Amino acid sequence: MAEESFMKSLFGGVVAEGVIFPYPEASRGESDELHAILEGFRRFAAKNVDSALLDREEKIAPELLTGLKSLGLFGLHVPKAHGGAGLGMTAYARALQEVASVDANLAMTLSAHSSLGTTALMLFGSDELKAHWLPRLASGERVAAFALAEVGAGSDAAATTTRADRDGDAYMLSGEKAWVTNGGIADVFIVFARTSPADEGAKPKLTAFVLERGCGVTSGLNEDKLGVRAASTTSVTFDKVRVPKDQVLGEVGRGFKVAMEVLSHARLSLASSCIGKGKRLLRMSVDRVNERKAFGRNISEFGLVRDKIAQMSSELFALESMTYLTTGLVDAGSTDFTVESAICKVFGSETLWRVANEAAQIAGALGYMRSQPWERMLRDARVAMVYEGTNEILRCFIALSGMQGPGREIEEVSKAMREPIKGFGLLSDFALRKARSALGRERLSKAHPMLARESVLFEEYTGHLAKSVDKVLRRHGGQIHEMQYTQKRMADLAIDLYALAAVISRTTRAIERRGEEGSRREIDLASVFASSAKRRMAEQVAAMDENDDELRKSIAQRTCTDGGYPLDVI
Ligand SMILES: Cc1cc2nc3c(=O)[nH]c(=O)nc-3n(C[C@H](O)[C@H](O)[C@H](O)COP(=O)(O)OP(=O)(O)OC[C@H]3O[C@@H](n4cnc5c(N)ncnc54)[C@H](O)[C@@H]3O)c2cc1C
Repeated sequence: MAEESFMKSLFGGVVAEGVIFPYPEASRGESDELHAILEGFRRFAAKNVDSALLDREEKIAPELLTGLKSLGLFGLHVPKAHGGAGLGMTAYARALQEVASVDANLAMTLSAHSSLGTTALMLFGSDELKAHWLPRLASGERVAAFALAEVGAGSDAAATTTRADRDGDAYMLSGEKAWVTNGGIADVFIVFARTSPADEGAKPKLTAFVLERGCGVTSGLNEDKLGVRAASTTSVTFDKVRVPKDQVLGEVGRGFKVAMEVLSHARLSLASSCIGKGKRLLRMSVDRVNERKAFGRNISEFGLVRDKIAQMSSELFALESMTYLTTGLVDAGSTDFTVESAICKVFGSETLWRVANEAAQIAGALGYMRSQPWERMLRDARVAMVYEGTNEILRCFIALSGMQGPGREIEEVSKAMREPIKGFGLLSDFALRKARSALGRERLSKAHPMLARESVLFEEYTGHLAKSVDKVLRRHGGQIHEMQYTQKRMADLAIDLYALAAVISRTTRAIERRGEEGSRREIDLASVFASSAKRRMAEQVAAMDENDDELRKSIAQRTCTDGGYPLDVI
């Protein structure tokens, strides 16, 4: 498995199709194991999970948590050697999808425990820490939480004020974390604290620690939230809590790297949770349109209702394709998937939001009633666009990470132009690649010929993305860091391109296995998704050159100065 990131290459106009073809598949053994876990959970959930009750009572009963633990759900991705089920990323994400399709609170609780807390220990714990904690976390004997955000440091982790001051062989931790999922029920906390002085202007160094509730951690009251009301969300306070230095995760001062890597993994199961909830909402919509009559007909017969069902289906197909393409890459040993996982998170949370909104619309008045599930599911869906990195921050991250490689290359090439003899190899490589992309030679040669239209679209817009990156970097250089409108356009192009690539790879596999007729559903969904993506991408590309960014900035500036919208008609 190549370690290169498909999307980072794509920003430079290179289609590393060997990375995404063939579409990954779980092994037979893993798939059987997963199906047994899913079956066990479905049986348990049918008898024991009542989402409306969870929402009303605002807590998960201890017996319900015990049931989930006994099904092995707290240790799905923990290696067997440490007492877990040892599932790979695809099977793990698929299991969380199943849980999320039943209840958002359970998925959020499991996710904070496994995807965040336990993953931090798996990736960065010393052998001793892993041997001590992983078996306890895998069995659910101990529940984990991940405490990064603070009231004054959400997106901006560098503003962290929780401090860890060195005291002999230990650190003394003081501060308060905010909005910690599992904050009220966790026994083990992954905490990020500043280990360098908070001097004016000094770059803060964060360090990650693992600590137990018993050593002096206190939790605030459960937050009164819009959705996922039964999942525990609290502040967590540390007042001179003594943490031995061997409880540091990763290196001292490298906590930011710990947080980013853990979040990169977690965003994949967040995306798969969105698939679970989205598919459930689509099922509910289908049931509704098949039974509801208006004007003497089932509402499923009306074009505008059908259009919603088709749109939801094609977006869920794209989300599922990109999420499990990425988890497959992780399972195959890919080490650089930060951009891909950020894309899955942004596309996943926004697809879920659109699906929840359309499902409620299809349900009419029922969609607005608290006695019905749509209203709760709409509330539950909202948070996915905010936590584990807001979608705005992640769009900037996608664009800037993607442009890093081409940026470096342009810098090196301009250096080489100053020393043409020494830099000849580099210059000719660069010139060759540019000439190739100008001729439109970057092809998706592994795509099935049935998908020629989708493939050409992908190739065409990959060219647009690379040209835009090149143009923007040459024109603005480092200024691009301040150009968020442009970053957003790049990110949105990249999101649609990744979705399209994943859809093409998956559908190619389907056609190769089952032939054209056997894959009709995938082919049609791919086609509809490609048409919508084309409209969005065309808009992004056109707006790169012609836009009203400056006017928008000045309207926002004036509105903020005025303290709101100042106009009235009377
Ligand atoms: C239910 C729930 C559970 C959570 N669980 C956890 C948890 O377990 N652990 C944990 O550590 N945290 C958790 N969080 C916190 C979450 O990660 C933060 O809310 C999130 O990172 C955003 O931070 P903020 O709320 O301070 O928003 P802010 O950072 O204040 O952002 C406000 C708005 O400004 C935008 N913005 C900010 N900076 C920029 C920028 N540079 N460019 C463009 N736009 C920008 C944001 O996108 C957002 O729209 C949870 C939050 C919720 C709601």
